[in-house]
Amino acid sequence: MEKKNMSRREAIRAMVLAGAGLAAGHSLVGAPLRASGLMPEDWKFTEPAKGDQVIHRSWKSLGGESISLLGMGCMRFPRKGSGRRAPLDQDVINMMIDYALEHGINYFDTAPAYGDSERATGEALSRHKRGDYLIATKMSNFSNADLGACKTMFANSLKNLRTDYVDYFLLHSIGSVDDFRKRFVDNGLLPYLQDLRKKGTIRHLGFSFHGSNAALKALIEMPYEWEFVQIQMNYVDWKNMPLEDSDEPCDSETLYKMLEAKNIPVVIMEPIRGGALANVSSGLQGRLAERFPTLSPAGVALTFASSYPGVMCTLSGMSNMQQLMENVYTFSHFKPFGEADNEYLMEMARLYNGNPHIPCTACRYCMPCPRGVDIPGVFAVYNGLSDELMLPDPSNKREKGYKEKKKKFLTRYATLAKDTDASACVMCNACLPKCPQRIRIPEQMRMVHKLVKNLG
Ligand code: SF4
Ligand code: SF4
Repeated sequence: MEKKNMSRREAIRAMVLAGAGLAAGHSLVGAPLRASGLMPEDWKFTEPAKGDQVIHRSWKSLGGESISLLGMGCMRFPRKGSGRRAPLDQDVINMMIDYALEHGINYFDTAPAYGDSERATGEALSRHKRGDYLIATKMSNFSNADLGACKTMFANSLKNLRTDYVDYFLLHSIGSVDDFRKRFVDNGLLPYLQDLRKKGTIRHLGFSFHGSNAALKALIEMPYEWEFVQIQMNYVDWKNMPLEDSDEPCDSETLYKMLEAKNIPVVIMEPIRGGALANVSSGLQGRLAERFPTLSPAGVALTFASSYPGVMCTLSGMSNMQQLMENVYTFSHFKPFGEADNEYLMEMARLYNGNPHIPCTACRYCMPCPRGVDIPGVFAVYNGLSDELMLPDPSNKREKGYKEKKKKFLTRYATLAKDTDASACVMCNACLPKCPQRIRIPEQMRMVHKLVKNLG
């Protein structure tokens, strides 16, 4: 009865008190959350103990400061209500950030391109001592690389984040040398940012990267002082991360090893591939559990990426307390994988890649689509069913289980809001240059639409 009467705000407060050390023992952490409805009653997980702290690493080249190996990606913050337009839920975000800091997470990664994230992150973090956390944000000058606009973007970042300096500043999502030149060199932006670094307004300067092995090689050989680089790295992309718009080789292993050889600290993005590796098929889940019985599929993916010694920080875009607590548990009981574990995961990657996938990480950079297509939503339906081995093949209607697959696909597809499915795509290509994964979005939309039509 008492549980049911607890308001959401009271539950959040109870959670904060537990995290602040005014309540003893970890069981008090889960109870108010369950009572609040923020966590399912039947959710099974190992709660971190009150004193659990995520592990840290430090880098001589970065002044030896202590950086949590788990970083909070602030791109997928929780919202009040469903729908991408719903406002961010500041109460829950505050609670998550308090809990993260309490458990030793000190690296918070955001960007102007993440909607209202910088403002929400700034609001939550500014309730704490500035020296207790590290802010990473970016220059998301995708649509306007004019120097004046870039300066305004940087000034807004400081304002939104309620700070007068940024600890880790990234040139956002460089896709090629050409892209780098256009957005950061030809417009005079790089000298401006380097000057800010001299003044201490930017403490460390790096870039995030979505391109080929050859492009990264060229970038790190240029005479710029890159203090860190952010790359996509996970066990599925380790051996092969095909670029959709180019045949140039790309794989996490080569990207990582190039940076390690140059002693450039590596920040990892997409360690769980936009959440896909947390929700692998039940068959794959079983295989992972056989080898890693104490880790969830997400924990396996995070541990894989973080086991490499050149990794400075692994970002996880956490959307709720469950994910945060589970991640805190993984990183406060962190045991790096060895070679045999990694070999096992290469086999899992082969199984995973055996199913068709559109490599969408749900980053939403492509949105909004002028015709209202829910691009990541459409791809999530397709990939989800592929992971569950439930993609129907209309060219093989006699296949065992075809009717069940068809029904499941159409039911799931119907959950997309009206007029937002693949049929609404007019192939205008507006989304194409925005996708860091270089997915040929219009072609994939046509493929999904054709599949639906052929199901009949
Ligand atoms: S190509 Fe299709 S999905 Fe992309 S922006 Fe145009 S209508 Fe939207
Ligand atoms: S299609 Fe590309 S840009 Fe759009 S959400 Fe997926 S990965 Fe991000």
